[in-house]
Amino acid sequence: MKRFDDVIEFHGHACPGLALGYRVSLRVLREFGGRAGDEELVAVVENSSCAVDAVQVMTGCTFGKGNLIFRDYGKQVYTFYTRPAGKGIRIAVNWTKPAETPQEKRMWDRYMKGDRSKQVAAYVHDRKAAKIRSILEADEKAVLTVRRIKEQLPPEARIYPSVTCESCGEKMMEPRARMKEGRVVCIPCFERE
Ligand SMILES: [Zn+2]
Ligand SMILES: [Zn+2]
Repeated sequence: MKRFDDVIEFHGHACPGLALGYRVSLRVLREFGGRAGDEELVAVVENSSCAVDAVQVMTGCTFGKGNLIFRDYGKQVYTFYTRPAGKGIRIAVNWTKPAETPQEKRMWDRYMKGDRSKQVAAYVHDRKAAKIRSILEADEKAVLTVRRIKEQLPPEARIYPSVTCESCGEKMMEPRARMKEGRVVCIPCFERE
């Protein structure tokens, strides 16, 4: 199984959001017993934050494979189910960061105002590391709310024929083609006047 280090390597840095996505993924793997091979496990994510990178690495649900579906609701909610049964779990992140001490507030203020002194940078870095650690070590109930669900299945990823835009000459999949003044064009060309 992949570890948090693998997730950091993919994402490019360690951050609290990534740690939250990691906790979500561990719960999912426990529920379904492994990563998605082809399309049997589907993820619906309701945000596009750092956490989603952890979900992709850990669960094998990826944007390119079509078993990662993004709904732009800005919610820390992740739904996973198996195809074709449609049985799954809905996970809401309920972790709340601990209240800031006055000193933390002061240091953070300085950082936000552009202070990159060694003292401030080290402090901010330490706080972030502590936050990540607390997410990774917290009791699962303090991080996630899990509910069992039966989903209406979205359609599987389909392969469409491609057509060529008569304006820019680039290819697109057919359902995205538009008609403009009797010519087949892509969306950017359609929207350009
Ligand atoms: Zn991040
Ligand atoms: Zn075009």
